[in-house]
Parts: sequence; structure tokens; C-alpha cells
Amino acid sequence: MTEIAAPRLAAAESGAELSRISHWIGGRLVEGESGRRGPVYDPATGRQTKWVDFASADEVDAAVAAAAAAFPAWRATSLSKRTEIMFKIRNLVDVRRRELAALLTAEHGKVPSDALGEIARGLENLEFACGIPNLLKGGYSEQVSGGIDVYQIRQPLGVVAGITPFNFPAMVPMWMFANAIACGNAFILKPSEKDPSASLFMAELLHEAGVPDGVFNVVHGDKVAVDRILAHPKIKAVSFVGSTPIAKYIYETGTRNGKRVQALGGAKNHMIVLPDADIDMAADAAVSAAYGSSGERCMAVSVVVAVGGVGDPLVAAIKQRLPKINVGPGSDPQAEMGPLVTREHRDKVASYLDKATAAGASVVTDGREAAVAKSDGFFLGVSLIDHVQPDHESYRNEIFGPVLEVMRVATYEDAVRLVNDNPYGNGTAIFTRDGGAARQFQFEAQAGMVGINVPIPVPVAYYSFGGWKDSLFGDLNMYGPEGVQFYTRSKVVTARWPDPGTSKVDLGFPRTR
Ligand code: NAD
Repeated sequence: MTEIAAPRLAAAESGAELSRISHWIGGRLVEGESGRRGPVYDPATGRQTKWVDFASADEVDAAVAAAAAAFPAWRATSLSKRTEIMFKIRNLVDVRRRELAALLTAEHGKVPSDALGEIARGLENLEFACGIPNLLKGGYSEQVSGGIDVYQIRQPLGVVAGITPFNFPAMVPMWMFANAIACGNAFILKPSEKDPSASLFMAELLHEAGVPDGVFNVVHGDKVAVDRILAHPKIKAVSFVGSTPIAKYIYETGTRNGKRVQALGGAKNHMIVLPDADIDMAADAAVSAAYGSSGERCMAVSVVVAVGGVGDPLVAAIKQRLPKINVGPGSDPQAEMGPLVTREHRDKVASYLDKATAAGASVVTDGREAAVAKSDGFFLGVSLIDHVQPDHESYRNEIFGPVLEVMRVATYEDAVRLVNDNPYGNGTAIFTRDGGAARQFQFEAQAGMVGINVPIPVPVAYYSFGGWKDSLFGDLNMYGPEGVQFYTRSKVVTARWPDPGTSKVDLGFPRTR
């Protein structure tokens, strides 16, 4: 069971030959034969710990073949049985959550409390999917015409695929596969190549829970695997979460090939602070939401918009909190924020600090000066940039790191304009004591998820998650009720049971009344 998790980590750390992460096809580990592979690092030490196989088009085809073979029996499996298996998956993830969290810390770098938080939110999606019998109930209209009834049923699509980002290696796959397999589909996961072990650990848990071979498959890799997924005629739908340019590419290519696609992209989440807000509460929220998980969250607050005279006291309150943030490796129980995922990403994030200064913004706290930033790990301390303007490069791009920007505007209207003019529309939040202002903001904010005195308004699993504008391509949001809709299609049946007593030939147009 645990051959992928703990023992392999131990081998890599002892200096032995680097372990290898393979595919999971048809209910078993399958070593890649493409000859292509990628390195996996421990971001806290900067050392490579593993290799991950990169799938060829043929290897993706093998996973699709396994999924297609498993689909007919799985969709015919009773709802009660599928529900029982979903409960077992939920319980296994719950019981084994610490091992899963350890894998996230080892490859992503997030600290254990954050890794456990990610798993807890993923578990909510599994719990939602345990209610699948209720979720798949259709509608029924009796006697639409004499002796005729009409009813709607929802059926699974067949083989579906999910392509996931590095920042939530456990939760985002659960956003997808929980509903996908509960609805009766067979699923292929292409996880991020940067932290791929969590997906294999979950594959083993699904196997142990009784998911039939082929219903859940994992192919590792890069663009080659993704492009084959987008082209394969037997894959009916693709769920994607990642950066906006790739999301757009996935949506355009997948839909051109006749697939249903939901593709969630990047973000620039604004937190508006009105002059009447509680400054300490707003500062606590901004710091937690900006630097949690090193800012590598698509719902992280990346811009605070200070309205009226709130800028000076707010920046002072945020700045005062920063030295207390404990940045360190996940192995340190005191650490609240870990490293970034790769050296390249850390350097890219850090480069925005010089760009901001050159553009005329002021760097209040520079994360490059933190002692931990000088270690071999991919660390960067927390950074705060004030007086950012809409044309600054640091504002126009998603930084995706522990960098919080502050913009100062005169009025509420100016603040809303910033939110609405931004090409991204994932999440946004307002901090105020004024219920009328909050309600107005909820009414006019151009974003898919809005927080009122809540900085990270990620919907609970029985709602659905999705942004607007460049943060989502497609029509249906992820997980929750829209997730069930995405992974099923509706069929409407019009039925009459023979009644020999009233049978006659009638060439007229069928009547409903
Ligand atoms: P990414 O777009 O680089 O990668 C996402 C997936 O796409 C990975 O599986 C990767 O292997 C694959 N991929 C990368 N380049 C590709 C290419 N050229 N062709 C085909 N496939 C390719 O994203 P990332 O760096 O792993 O994740 C961070 C990004 O994800 C951020 O932009 C973040 O905002 C976003 N994100 C969004 C949400 C959301 O719900 N909207 C949630 C989490 C992360």
C-alpha cells in the first residue's frame, strides 16, 4: 500500500538512487517507457529527490483504453454500491491524511498545517459526492398527455480527464475525481509534474476502497500527455486548473475537438478596505490571505485596495505583523510558511520587487532580505509593496508568491473600478462595517467569488467554485452541483405503456393536451 509514499522518500533522503514515480493504469503501477522524465525537488532543501516519468501519447492511449474498458461496468454499478465506495474513499483519505500531507510537504513545500488544511477541503468534496444518489435524481412529469409520462435522467459521459496545477496536489484532483467517478465516469488524472506523488497515493487509496481497476488512472507528464488528452476521441470531457494562458489553450483545443471543457485560470484577487473597516481585523485577514501557502493560492489576496485615509494605518498594521511570520521548512513545527515550489518560480517572484521599485512603487518589506532566503531551499521571505499603480508590471501579472501589493484610491467607486477593469475575476473581498456598501459591492463586483469581511471566499463543497473573465473558460464551475452537471448529460424520456383498449392509428401531430 505505502510503497510509493514513506519508503521511497526514505531512500531518496539517504542518498540512495533517486526513486521513480510511475503511472497508474488499470489499477496498478506502470513504469513509463517513453524515455522522458522530469525532476522532483524537495523545495525546503533545494535537492532533487525523485524522477517522474513523462507519458508518451501511447501511454496516454493505454490509460484511455483501461478507462474505456472499465466504464460500462462502472456506470452499471448500482448507486448504492458506488456510494458505499465513495464513503470508503472518504474514510481512507481521512485516516491516512497525515501520510498524504507529508507527501505534499515533501514535494510542494507547504507546511504540515497548510497541507492538512488542503486535504480537509478536499475531503469536503468527497463527502459531497457521497450524496450522489440524491444529486442524480431527475425530474418526472406524470400524464403530460393521455397515458404519457416524461422524465429526465442524468447519465455519465464516459472517459473524462483532469489536468491539475502544482499548488494543490491533493485538493484540486479531489475537486474533480470525487464527482466524476461518483457520477459513473472513468477518470484519467494528469497531475502537475512538480509534485506528482500525492496523486499516486490517492490512486492506491481508491484501489483499496474498491474502485474497480481502470476507473481511476494517473498519467504523469507534460505537454505531450496533455495534448494527447485533448486530442483523444474517447475522452469526452476535460477539467483543467492552472494558469490562464494554458487554461485558454486547453479550452480552445479541447472544445475544437468536441469535448466538454471547464478550464480555470489564474487570478489577481483584490481586497478592498473601506475607511470604516476594523483596521486590525483587515490587517490580520490581509496577512493571512496573502502569505498563507507562500501566496501560491489562486484565491490568495494579492492586492489590498485602501480607500480614503485608511492607507497609512493599514500599511503600518500589516508591516507590524510581518516580522512575526515564521518562514521555514515543513519539518520545523514552528514554521507557518514554507518555500516556493521551484528555484525558477522563487526567482521570478523575487524579480517583481525590483520591477516595482523601478516603476515607482515603494518596497516596504523585502522578502529577499530574510535570512531564510539565503538558504539552499527555494525560500523567499514575505514582501510588501506600497503605492502600486495599475500600469505597474507587478500589478498586471499574477505574481503567485508571498508578495502583497497595496494600492491607494480616493473612493469606493475607484476601488470597484480596479476590480472590474482587471482581466482576472476569480475572487475579491471587501472589508467594511457598512452593510449597504457590502451589498452594493456584492451586486457590482465582476468576480465569481466575493467575500464580505472574509478574505478567501472559497465556496464550501455544496456550492461550486469558479471565477469570471480570464479566470475561467467554460460554462460550468468546478465541484458542487455544477460539477455533477459537468460530468453528466441529461436525457429526457417520453413514455407510454401500451393500452390495447385505446390503441388506434393516428397520423396527426403528437398532442400534449
Ligand atoms: P500551469 O498552467 O503551469 O500548469 C497546470 C497544468 O498544465 C499542469 O498539469 C502542467 O503540467 C500543464 N501544462 C503546463 N504547461 C503546459 C503546456 N504548455 N501545454 C499543456 N499543458 C501544460 O499552472 P501551475 O504553475 O501548475 O499552477 C499555478 C497556476 O494555477 C496559477 O496561475 C494559479 O492561479 C492557477 N490556479 C488556479 C486555480 C483556480 O481555481 N482558478 C486553482 C489553483 C491554481
